Amino acid sequence: MVSLLKLAQVTEEGVRFLSPHDGSPMLLTPEHSISLQNSIGSDIIMQLDDVIVTTSPDLARMKEAMERSVRWLDRCIQAHKYPERQNLFCIIQGGLDLDLRRQCTAEMVARDTPGIAIGGLSGGEAKDEYCKVVDTCTGLLPEKKPRYVMGVRFGNAITARGVLNLRNAVYSTDFGPIEEGCKCTCCRPTDDGGLGITRAYIYHVTAKETAGAHLLTMHNVHYQLNLMKLIREAILEDRYPKFLRTFFAKLYDDKSKYPAWAVSALKGVGVDLLRD
Ligand SMILES: [Zn+2]
Repeated sequence: MVSLLKLAQVTEEGVRFLSPHDGSPMLLTPEHSISLQNSIGSDIIMQLDDVIVTTSPDLARMKEAMERSVRWLDRCIQAHKYPERQNLFCIIQGGLDLDLRRQCTAEMVARDTPGIAIGGLSGGEAKDEYCKVVDTCTGLLPEKKPRYVMGVRFGNAITARGVLNLRNAVYSTDFGPIEEGCKCTCCRPTDDGGLGITRAYIYHVTAKETAGAHLLTMHNVHYQLNLMKLIREAILEDRYPKFLRTFFAKLYDDKSKYPAWAVSALKGVGVDLLRD
């Protein structure tokens, strides 16, 4: 929906938009969105929310979108056929306005969904505003429920050395894997020793074919599952701050290049990235 916002018209009923494939009008309602996700059978399903550009200066519209997202959550809960096996996550809205975020969080926490997402971020806002919103919302969330900050990455591959934008022309003739040494189905060589999916291939299909996004997603999910495994091990062995320092040292060749927002966000939770 975010990517179709320009073509969309939001009413209390749902979101009307023109199909990106054939231009025919379509209506996505909270009920229909849940029915689609019930058919797919995913373990985690998301409510339909009224999401607008984070940096929108229209506070009245922001408030409307936040309140409508709460009403739509109620419709999603009603429409959900398999609450015993599919976990519905609410999505907190409210833009960069911390009061709206607090109100929305209170309403959504009261609905007691199995998990909670913070939405409407990564829309071009400054990182410290992003952190303030996340900090405000998480401060009000129950301790024992999964939390998810919704994000967007188009055409980007995540690797231990940083994020690669594979739409950049330098990759058009790069026949290496997305990430050297990665064991995911895209990066590893084929059974007969041939090239796996190459950076050049992704460059040529991404942004034109959804197959490009699927391939990148397979790599990115593999990367993140592995990262989460390493994080869990570090937490269990009580060395997570050290893990973070090593992680950043691999990403940046010099401490002076660490993003200030990351340094201060981690300081906020008691981790000093700049320590040796
Ligand atoms: Zn990979």
